[in-house]
Amino acid sequence: MSAQQRPTDGENGEIIQTDVIIIGGGPAGLTMAALLGAQDIDAICIDRDAPDFQQSADYDLRTTAISYGSSQVLEATGIWQGLLKNACPIKDIDILDSGSSVLLKFLTDDIDQDAFGWIINNRDLRKALYERIESQQSVRHIAPDGAIDFTAYDDYIAVKLHSGKTIHGKLLIGADGRNSFVRKHAEIPTRKWPYNQQAVICTVAHENPHNFVAVEHFKAEGPFAVLPMSDDEDGGHRSSLVWTEHFNGSRHAKENSIMALSDDAFNIALNQRFPDFYGKVSLASQRRAFPLGLEHAVDYIAPRLCLIADAAHGIHPIAGQGLNLGMRDIAALGEILADAKKSGLDLGATENLELYQRRRRFDNMAMAAVTDALVKIFGVSFPPFKAARKLGLMGVERFSPVKKFFMQQAMGTSGLLPNLIKKDEK
Ligand SMILES: Cc1cc2nc3c(=O)[nH]c(=O)nc-3n(C[C@H](O)[C@H](O)[C@H](O)COP(=O)(O)OP(=O)(O)OC[C@H]3O[C@@H](n4cnc5c(N)ncnc54)[C@H](O)[C@@H]3O)c2cc1C
Repeated sequence: MSAQQRPTDGENGEIIQTDVIIIGGGPAGLTMAALLGAQDIDAICIDRDAPDFQQSADYDLRTTAISYGSSQVLEATGIWQGLLKNACPIKDIDILDSGSSVLLKFLTDDIDQDAFGWIINNRDLRKALYERIESQQSVRHIAPDGAIDFTAYDDYIAVKLHSGKTIHGKLLIGADGRNSFVRKHAEIPTRKWPYNQQAVICTVAHENPHNFVAVEHFKAEGPFAVLPMSDDEDGGHRSSLVWTEHFNGSRHAKENSIMALSDDAFNIALNQRFPDFYGKVSLASQRRAFPLGLEHAVDYIAPRLCLIADAAHGIHPIAGQGLNLGMRDIAALGEILADAKKSGLDLGATENLELYQRRRRFDNMAMAAVTDALVKIFGVSFPPFKAARKLGLMGVERFSPVKKFFMQQAMGTSGLLPNLIKKDEK
């Protein structure tokens, strides 16, 4: 898509002026908006779904493992301290392979921080971000509404919404998730492949406390991850489950899916799979399924436009890093836009966009490659390969520099954090 000449203003009803237009008010778009708002940059965030619906249990039951690096981004938006009240710290991580007992143990005693990360409820994150944006002078939230068209001109970009409104800004940020309209409309191709797996998620109640341990049990059909949640209002112990199974979308796969089990049968299956130290476990929410695949945009930028988070890169949740990567995009872009604003430069200038793409592409591609390799390595059940894998994991356990590398990945502190966050820390 190339930049075009300026048309006559006002041709299509109301025109709203701003600096940055964000399409998609999911966790990434809202965080981007709040970060821009914290820097007094004018921004409008648009989502097709109404906020009330997005905060209901029907909309999103998921929790997210927030790394230490992402907590710093949320701190820069001003919401982290509030979120911490309901967040559950991950103190230790146990890695198990197929039928084995614990093979790898990551302990917070081995690192400089109090926790590897925190499990937060997606609804709590959205709520905190809505409230933050509401309090910011320079940010507006338009929802429900959606983009139906946009055109980049020499000195601005015009976005048309379903409601008939037109918004003019210097930069359009596509934060509209995996199936990104912005990416498709800009004709940015992706590289993608399915994993023939789906992740079934739910909340599970259990008899004994989880002791802030996250368990990742790698099985041939996909990982079975148990993530510690804060206790419920009555003091009941809870964890969030991400249970991956083979799934190719066929009728046979649907009939044999764990989604098709009755609650009673699902509870029996849960008790067979959970490590003993949880005691008796039972389903405490609805179940939801997410088909899994990898999709990475070939470019993150086009004239006056850039993509962030899942709109740019969707990965397997095997390492709980999807949104954490998106948070690193947001931090990098936030820093570039803040610098441009301070210098009085055009926020949508090609140099800014190219700098953003250069800063983010390698990290995102590396994480996509690591998660892809993990899915494939742990998906093999051929006995000699399984034995080699076990030896490899035991090697990581014993060789501390490698173990430290993995711990930094889990914490999201392996890459250099942008100056924006470091400055805010002072
Ligand atoms: C089972 C599972 C577990 C996961 N666990 C973790 C984890 O522990 N840690 C982690 O870091 N990541 C995790 N992830 C990944 C994480 O959920 C995603 O990376 C994250 O949701 C991406 O946020 P986003 O805002 O980019 O996209 P989305 O959450 O998809 O939000 C996109 C938003 O854009 C809106 N939208 C779409 N099209 C339009 C349009 N045309 N106009 C206006 N609005 C539009 C949608 O309504 C939506 O609100 C997990 C993913 C799955 C599937």
